[in-house]
Amino acid sequence: MGESHTIRIVGAREHNLKDVSLEIPKNTLTVFTGVSGSGKSSLVFDTVAVEAQRQLNATYSWFVRNQLPKYERPHADVIENLSAPVVVDQKPVGGNSRSTVGTMTDIYSVIRALFARHGTPSSGLVSLYSFNDPKGMCPECEGLGKVQRIDPDRVVDRTRSLDEGAILVPWYRVGSPEWQLYATSGRLDPAKTLADYTPEEWHTLLHGSGGPKVKLTTKNSSLDVNYEGLVDRVTRLNLKRDVSTMSEKNREAISAFITEQRCPACDGARLGPAALATRIDGLSIADWCRMEIGDLIGVISRIDDPVAAPIAAAARAALERVAEIGLGYLSLDRATPTLSGGEGQRLKLVRHLGSTLTGMTYLFDEPSTGLHPRDVGRLGDLLRALRDQGNTVLVVEHDPDVIAMADHIVDVGPRAGVHGGEIVFQGSYEELRTADTLTGRGLRAAAQPRTRFREPRGKLAVENATVHNLKNVSVTVPTGVLTVVTGVAGSGKSSLISEAFMSAHPESIYVDQSPIAASSRSTPATYLGVMDPLRKLFAKTNNVAPGLFSANSAGACEDCQGRGAVITEIAYMDPVTAHCETCDGRRFKDEVLAHTVRGKSIADVLEMSAEDAVAFFEEKTLRDKTRALVEVGLGYLTIGQPLSTLSGGERQRIKLAVQLNRSGSVYVLDEPTTGLHMSDVATLVRLLDTLVDQGNTVVVVEHNLDVVKEADWIIDLGPEGGKGGGEIVFTGTPEELLSATGSGSLTGEHLRRYLG
Ligand code: ADP
Ligand code: ADP
Ligand code: ZN
Ligand code: ZN
Repeated sequence: MGESHTIRIVGAREHNLKDVSLEIPKNTLTVFTGVSGSGKSSLVFDTVAVEAQRQLNATYSWFVRNQLPKYERPHADVIENLSAPVVVDQKPVGGNSRSTVGTMTDIYSVIRALFARHGTPSSGLVSLYSFNDPKGMCPECEGLGKVQRIDPDRVVDRTRSLDEGAILVPWYRVGSPEWQLYATSGRLDPAKTLADYTPEEWHTLLHGSGGPKVKLTTKNSSLDVNYEGLVDRVTRLNLKRDVSTMSEKNREAISAFITEQRCPACDGARLGPAALATRIDGLSIADWCRMEIGDLIGVISRIDDPVAAPIAAAARAALERVAEIGLGYLSLDRATPTLSGGEGQRLKLVRHLGSTLTGMTYLFDEPSTGLHPRDVGRLGDLLRALRDQGNTVLVVEHDPDVIAMADHIVDVGPRAGVHGGEIVFQGSYEELRTADTLTGRGLRAAAQPRTRFREPRGKLAVENATVHNLKNVSVTVPTGVLTVVTGVAGSGKSSLISEAFMSAHPESIYVDQSPIAASSRSTPATYLGVMDPLRKLFAKTNNVAPGLFSANSAGACEDCQGRGAVITEIAYMDPVTAHCETCDGRRFKDEVLAHTVRGKSIADVLEMSAEDAVAFFEEKTLRDKTRALVEVGLGYLTIGQPLSTLSGGERQRIKLAVQLNRSGSVYVLDEPTTGLHMSDVATLVRLLDTLVDQGNTVVVVEHNLDVVKEADWIIDLGPEGGKGGGEIVFTGTPEELLSATGSGSLTGEHLRRYLG
């Protein structure tokens, strides 16, 4: 890989890119801007990152190469002077229940070394502190920190007697041999309602043992067995057993009777007794890991033993990087599957900052997601630190504060989809501010706060919420208006809204960014219910059967089964997708494609953007369904594009699209501006306004000040993250927030600065 000072790209044509040529300066921080769908990801991830990874893989031996996913060469004439890529994205961090903040950042291994060498009593052995090592793990929970228990409250219905079917486990139904163990063994009265049992009877039912054997009879045989309480028996036969030998159906049934609890042996610490007995200044390694990182820094900085000092300093430096990026409210024992996408991405960033590798290309996808304006500055410092270590840093980002920190900006546009795919500007931030592009105009636009507030029609209460860090929070959310919930990351917004509010008002519609449970064949068209009427339209026009136009019918391409792509599953790897050569990605056989409506084949229609489809369809149902995509700002999406290619923000908006045109609903959205350009945010705000004007209640968790200023009502949480947060700092209109100086609201401070 060359020594030249720029990455050179000639003729890039991936997705909507229009034969794009450009040079990206190396060893600088370059930010890619542009409206959603303009082609930023196609350029940065699908062209630069894919080609860099492909070239890197080519340097390995044949044997290693065979184990790696195959990358197809991106559509471009030349891509040169690349360096080894590191993609830091928002994909969930290790879904593994053994992965924690401590293990994924490698900070835990430094701390283990500290305890092994300097704890008392000193144990010498580092693996003793590893909960992923049999020597170190708690024997009770095998290092998971939690255990599964059969929950007595779920296996029986206390309002019934045994004769009335009080036992809820399906294979213990009235009359079965299992049921006889309790109902006909003479130990319990089968007609007595369980709620009336004495403590002794309860014990007999759930945990009893001993006494004479019980005869269980089936139609043609009988069997003498030892008496055993219901919970003990289900635990022994169904929970402690190797689940792989159980049928899918029984495994599913049993999961309804299980609760997960913190392991009583290690109290959730995952470690065995020897490791937990070792202390530094009276605290065990588990105590350290339970603490918020911000507090742990204080504990470590008090270590003054000169021998321990170098390791302590290394641990402290790593912890400070986590705190600097606004994640000081996390603890090292936090399981990574519970982190949000933004939190996970920032932790990955921290891990790379500790690396001494240089000359890499780092690629980030909207690293400001989930960050309060207060913390965006620190994020910029870390990105610059990565650059200063001798790396090239490429960032796709919409946040004006991050854009302002760039050494170089590439603006992709002018608009989305077929109207985008060109480089409309390259240069410095100062130059961009005067450029005639949507980004340049967005940066110049003076923000105005809302002055006309809608009147609430009623209110929905959350009372005494204590989820996670919430400090007994009671608050009311006004109905019939737009409420924005703000606060720094970790202050408790999601805990309050996604958990406390949603469980108090379960009829609310939660529209999040999680993957859509769908098959590899799902597309916006299938998701919105466009396919059925579309097949009928083609069938009627051409006088053939509708089934012919189904992607899993006889009309489908045989080589890709109508997927348009050939998918290869490799153990332990992401599946690899390759273009289907037979149908050239068009999914159907030629004879099917010969049938047209107004000159377009079904493949032509599925390749249209939502916007173009609205213009093409004359049929009302089809037009209305596709128009919903345009209304949520996804007009640029190809209606036949696999849902798996959508970003989190796009998934969230497509979920919203199927919910439109209701009235009297409560919509809850978590950070809907993710992935949105400044000019798209205006579209989103208009959509939220429309929902409210149609008689709905809208509650959004959001940092974007362009949304905050549009709120009818603001609920600000804080003041800080973690245990320093969890309180309501302010409630009221944006105007009141602006004038509430000294309220301690960081959001107020930043809104004031923004509206300047
Ligand atoms: P951005 O990153 O600027 O939001 P993208 O590069 O993701 O934009 O998308 C650019 C265009 O390419 C859009 O029209 C999008 O719908 C299309 N596109 C993106 N990914 C795929 C894909 N895997 N298959 C087909 N079209 C895609
Ligand atoms: P926000 O939405 O404002 O970023 P959260 O509600 O996600 O804040 O987090 C509030 C606090 O609760 C933080 O200290 C966070 O670490 C903690 N928390 C959030 N989710 C979990 C979880 N699944 N397990 C343990 N702690 C959690
Ligand atoms: Zn345990
Ligand atoms: Zn095919």
